[in-house]
Amino acid sequence: MKVVVPVKRVVDHNVKIRVRTDGSGVDLSNVKMSMNPFDEIAVEEAVRLKEAGAVDEIIAVTVGSAQAQDVLRTALAMGADRAILIKSEGPVEPLDVAKLLKGVVVAEAPRLVLLGKQAIDDDANQTGQMLSALLGWSQATFASQVALNGDHAQVTREVDGGLQVIDVSLPTIVTVDLRLNDPRYASLPNIIKAKKKPIEEKGPADYGVNVDARLKILRTEEPAARAPGIKVGSIPELVEKLKNEACVL
Ligand code: AMP
Repeated sequence: MKVVVPVKRVVDHNVKIRVRTDGSGVDLSNVKMSMNPFDEIAVEEAVRLKEAGAVDEIIAVTVGSAQAQDVLRTALAMGADRAILIKSEGPVEPLDVAKLLKGVVVAEAPRLVLLGKQAIDDDANQTGQMLSALLGWSQATFASQVALNGDHAQVTREVDGGLQVIDVSLPTIVTVDLRLNDPRYASLPNIIKAKKKPIEEKGPADYGVNVDARLKILRTEEPAARAPGIKVGSIPELVEKLKNEACVL
C-alpha cells in the first residue's frame, strides 16, 4: 500500500517570529526554516506503518520554492522512499495545495494520505479537509492513534473533553495531532542515504492548477506586550489583587 505524506516548509517552531515593520507579514529573512512539526509526526507515523509491514511505499510531497527540497530530504532521511517537489514561488493557498495534492493522489493512487492537522505558519487547518472533499474520500481529523485493518482504518481523534474512536473505509485522509507519536531524529547514515533517494520536480501546470492568490493579507500584528509579573507580600494581598486587578476570563 502506498502512502502520500504532504510536508510543508515553515518557520522553525523554536524561532521567535518577527513581524515586518510595515505589517505586511512575518519577516522571513535569515530565519531558520524546518518541516512543519505536525508533518514530522505524519512522516513518523507513515514510517512506523511501513516498519510494521502495513505500508510498502511512502511518498513525501511539498508545494513550495526550490528551497523546500530540504524538508523533502528530511522526510527521506526519516524513512520516506521518494519525494515530489511541486515548485511554486510565493505562498500557495490551502485550496490550491489541496488541488495539487489531488493531482498527486490521482497519479500515484495511494490508499492513505497522512497530513499535519495544521501548518504552524498560516494556522489554516484546511488542506486535509479540502483534499478529502475534492477526492470524495473519507477523512479522520486530529488523529492521536491510527490502526490499519484491511480496507479500514481505526482512528482515535482528540475532541473537546476526550477521545473519539472512528472507523473509516480506505482510501482515506488522516490529519495528525500532536500526541500521535514522537518523531525520530534522522541518523547520519540515513541522512546520507536520503541524498540518493529521488526527488521528482513538477509544477502546478502539470496538474492543471492555477495558484494565483485569491486572498490578501491586510495586516499582521504581534501580540500586545505582556506586563511583567509582580511579587505579592501576603495571601490577603494576592486575593485582593486577584479580585480587583486580574482580568476575568
Ligand atoms: P493547513 O491547512 O495550511 O493548516 O495545512 C495542513 C496540512 O496540509 C499541513 O500540515 C501539511 O501536511 C499540508 N500542507 C499545507 N500546505 C502545504 C504545502 N505547501 N506543501 C505540502 N503540504 C502542505
